[in-house]
Order: sequence, then C-alpha cells, then structure tokens
Amino acid sequence: MSRILIIEDEESIAELEKDYLEINGYEVDMVFNGTDGLDKALNSEYDLMILDLMLPGIDGFEICRQVRKTKDIPIIMVSAKKEDIDKIRGLGLGADDYITKPFSPNEMVARVKAHLARFERLVGSSMPKNEIVEIRGLKIDKTARRVYINGEEKNFTTKEFDLLTFLAEHPNHVFTKEELFKEIWEMESVGDIATVTVHIKKIREKIEFNTAKPQYIETIWGVGYRFKM
Ligand code: CA
Repeated sequence: MSRILIIEDEESIAELEKDYLEINGYEVDMVFNGTDGLDKALNSEYDLMILDLMLPGIDGFEICRQVRKTKDIPIIMVSAKKEDIDKIRGLGLGADDYITKPFSPNEMVARVKAHLARFERLVGSSMPKNEIVEIRGLKIDKTARRVYINGEEKNFTTKEFDLLTFLAEHPNHVFTKEELFKEIWEMESVGDIATVTVHIKKIREKIEFNTAKPQYIETIWGVGYRFKM
C-alpha cells in the first residue's frame, strides 16, 4: 500500500484529500504546519507528498527544496494562487505537479495515481536484474555471488567463485594456470600457480557429479583448463 503525506494548514482541505485517498486504498498522514511537515517528510518513508505552498512555520518552497536533496518521491504542490504555481515552476524546485485550489478531489486522486505509477516504473527500471550465468544445471548468480547446482546452493569462497565465474563466462576457451592465476589473484603476491590447481579441485568437488569425469571444468593436459559448453 502506498503511503502519502499531506502537508496542509487548512485542515478541512487536508481531511477532504485524506478521505478521497483512503477510499482509493492509500495510507495517509496529515500534518498541519510546515515545521512538523518537513520533519515528517524527511524522517518517515512516504511514496508521495501533497504539499501546500503557504504554510505556517516553513513554507512549501523550502520543504520541497529540502526534501529534494534526499528523496525523489513525487511531490504535488498545491496553491490557492495561479501566480504562485507559475513562480514555483520558474524556481525549478523539483515538484512533479501543481494543483490550484479549489480542485476536484477526483482530479487530485487521478494525478496521485498517475505519479505513483510513473514513479514505480522509474524505480523498477533502474533496479538492475541479477546477472545470472546458467549452464546445464549450474547457475551462477553474479550479483548475489551465489552458486547453485540443480537448484541446490553450494558455498564458495571468494576466489573459488571468481575462478568458476571467469571460466564459465569464457566457455571452450583453454586457459593456462598462469593466465588464470594472473586473472583471479592479480596483484596478490601470496601463492603461486599451484593455487589454481587447488582451487579447481575444490570447485569440482562442489559442482561435479563425478570429479573423475568432470562435465564442467575439463583439464587440458599440459596446458590448463577450459569450461565445457
Ligand atoms: Ca495554506
């Protein structure tokens, strides 16, 4: 359920907005002055804010400016004067919409719905999907750094994970132990190429059904390893 904050000093208007929004399934908080309004807007989680311009305490201009520093929720500004609306637009405070009083409550609800829908789309599209590598029952979730074999999670150390992921992302490519060591261990001076052998063995124990006949990581004798596609 979306939460909406109304900052409005005319209590009858705030009540009217609240009633209409609640009928439409929103959870609504009301604050009747600017000082408490700013405090609530900054310190509580809301999905949208309806902000009156002229308020006792801190005015709507300043609230909008302050909230925008940290929050990108839709802000609908309300004013009794058309000229004020023009003024806020000119200031570029980052409000998403402007409504002049008196307004129809249904019109306000429609705008709230539209802004919430648009905001959810924006937030949804900016949330990247987990990057997954999937090969024959082996699933590597690169974002969460987890490995699954036929749906069962296996615990991997950082280097084991990096090594497996690197090989799986370059299937059918034969890498020497030196290349793999350089790729995964980079600048770290500890260890040598025997480390690669040890890690391959550990990875196989976790992902291979039969480590004597590996179906994922193949040993190319005298050269190195390759991930079978
Ligand atoms: Ca007012």
